[in-house]
Amino acid sequence: MADEQIRMQESAAAEEAAAREADAGTAAQTGEQAEKSRDGGRRRPRKAEVLVLAGLLLAGGALGLFLLLNRQEGTKVQVSVSGQIVAEYPLSRDRTEVIEGAGGGTNTLVIEDGMAWLTDSTCPDHLCEYMGKISQNYEVVICLPNEVVVQVIEPDGGSDDGVDVVAG
Ligand SMILES: [Zn+2]
Repeated sequence: MADEQIRMQESAAAEEAAAREADAGTAAQTGEQAEKSRDGGRRRPRKAEVLVLAGLLLAGGALGLFLLLNRQEGTKVQVSVSGQIVAEYPLSRDRTEVIEGAGGGTNTLVIEDGMAWLTDSTCPDHLCEYMGKISQNYEVVICLPNEVVVQVIEPDGGSDDGVDVVAG
C-alpha cells in the first residue's frame, strides 16, 4: 500500500514535471539545446552560419581587394567613334590626340599622369569636357554629338584588333 502510494506520487510528480516542461516550452527547450550543444547538436549550425557569414565577408573583401588592385593596374583607353573602335592608347604615356568624330566634329583626347579626358570639343554642349578625367577600369567619357566614346579598359580586356570587343 505504501509502495503504491509512493509510485502514484512519483508518477504524479513526473506528470507535473512534464506539464511544467510543456508549459515552460522555451525554457525547457533552451535547457535541452544547451545540453545538446555540448555534443554539437545546437552549436554546429550556429558555427556554420558564422562561417558562412565570415566566408561571405571574406569573399566580398577579396572581391573588393581584387577590384582595387585591378583598378591600380596599368590600363589603357579605348576610343570608339560611332561604335567602331578607332584607337587604343596606354594610360601610362602622356599624349594628346585629336579624335575625328561623327559628322566632322572633333574632340581632343588628353592623356596625362595616367588619366584621360576630352577637351577642345567641337560639339555644341561640351558636356564631354565636364565628364572629368578617367583612369579607373570601365570609366567612360562620351561625346554624344560626335559619337565619341573613350573608355578605360583592362590591360588584357581588349585585344589590339578589338575584334572581340563590343563598344557601347
Ligand atoms: Zn562633346
